Amino acid sequence: MNIALLLEMAAEAAPDRIALVCEGKRWTYGDLLAAARGAFELIQDSGAEYVALLDESSEAAVIAVFGAALAGVPYCPLNYRLPDADLAALLGRIAPALVIGDEERVLRIAGGQNHTVFPRDEFTLKVQETVPGNDTRQYDPGEGVAIQLFTSGTTAAPKAAILRHANLIGYILGTVEFASADEADAALVVVPPYHIAGISALLSSIYAQRKIVMLPSFSPEGWLSLVAHEAVTNAFVVPTMLARIVDAMEKGATAQTASLRAIAYGGGKMPLEVIHKALERFPSAGFTNAYGLTETSSTVALLGPEDHREAVASEDPKVRARLTSLGKPIPTVEMEIRGENGEVLPVGEPGEIYVRGDQVSGEYKEKSALDAQGWFPTRDAGFMDQDGYLFLSGRADDVIVRGGENMSPGEIEDVLLTHPAVADACACAIPSVEWGETVGVAIVTRQGHIAPNEGELKELVRSRLRSSRVPEKVAFVSELPYNEMGKLLRRKVKDVLAD
Ligand code: ATP
Repeated sequence: MNIALLLEMAAEAAPDRIALVCEGKRWTYGDLLAAARGAFELIQDSGAEYVALLDESSEAAVIAVFGAALAGVPYCPLNYRLPDADLAALLGRIAPALVIGDEERVLRIAGGQNHTVFPRDEFTLKVQETVPGNDTRQYDPGEGVAIQLFTSGTTAAPKAAILRHANLIGYILGTVEFASADEADAALVVVPPYHIAGISALLSSIYAQRKIVMLPSFSPEGWLSLVAHEAVTNAFVVPTMLARIVDAMEKGATAQTASLRAIAYGGGKMPLEVIHKALERFPSAGFTNAYGLTETSSTVALLGPEDHREAVASEDPKVRARLTSLGKPIPTVEMEIRGENGEVLPVGEPGEIYVRGDQVSGEYKEKSALDAQGWFPTRDAGFMDQDGYLFLSGRADDVIVRGGENMSPGEIEDVLLTHPAVADACACAIPSVEWGETVGVAIVTRQGHIAPNEGELKELVRSRLRSSRVPEKVAFVSELPYNEMGKLLRRKVKDVLAD
């Protein structure tokens, strides 16, 4: 079991089919496999124990994933947006590595260390020139590490999550509809390469023998134009990207998007207003909300196109509310909601989401987070309704404990967002002498509206929720801090509120 098998199978079945389009250059499946075999030779000769990418998405990134898999060493894409010192520290944790990246930066950060450094274009040229030896197969039973990803660090310092070949193959088999091998299929990959969503989209597309259309850095106009030019059928976006795409369309950006058959989104909470607008703007596409984590090889639950259509068309508030859910666990993943003492909770009760399945690694370089029965605690808080739909209320670490009473920031934010002048809201715990913790909120006022006053917002919360949920402190800010994957950085908001 090895993810390189996915590329070998595709190259054998359709060697001349276009596999990758990146900044105008086109690679067939045959070309890509030959380059991956060249990369394998290069990695072996360098003696590297890791392959690191310190760059945005590129053809070099795709070749490196499979070259590393063939060589049996972990592929580690790093968040190139981090400051130099942070990147140098992460590289120090994966030495010696073959490091590929933007020329000037990669030499500056990795040059002096015990690494083999390749500027991106030099790597791409070199792997094409390298004549592969006869035996490139180093396949093991799936125990080997395929990918090592540093999590985005929204709640703690980045952890080195490990995904084995068996986990990723488990994900592919569990989630991908069997390869349609339709010549017209084209998947647009725009999420950064160091995020699990980018890697899972790449692997699923190779498995399905699709054309992968790569957009190294996102802009709504660039995205729309590639959809039209490459007749894109499948796309994955994070909520902030979809918000910017529909916003650009509202402001007049146009493109031929009728080829779009499937748009998946996830990685963070999707605002209801954005998904409603997107459903109208892309009538040809079926939408899927995908919920997953790095440690689970991405998607473990999803809300599919049929559910989206039903929720929009229904008069029943329960069915309409499904648009805010994460759908149902996929058939190959088991899911439980557990209480503070690890007990499985009854339907409807909120607790921590646990998952188990082949794709769930739950493993870090230092230790495994799986319990004795193989269950992984996600640190996400949520509940499942009578019909099996999963609702997320936030991170277990974000729960506000006021005098022993637990409350999720999400329920308070959802109420605040119903105020017409509130564009964005974040609730979090602030220290309180009386209660230990209490509720603080940061509010972004909608453009063109007068900021609501503090008393009005408190009253709104009081009218809908228990009085313990009423914020003690309200701060008005120009914007909330999100990372490039659209995740709200609550730690930063906490700092602002504590000030
Ligand atoms: P760290 O663990 O370092 O704090 P991170 O949690 O941001 O980083 P990821 O694995 O990238 O690392 O993110 C997974 C989290 O993203 C999930 O636990 C969940 O909170 C959130 N998430 C993922 N998909 C969705 C979705 N469809 N809707 C809402 N939230 C989502």
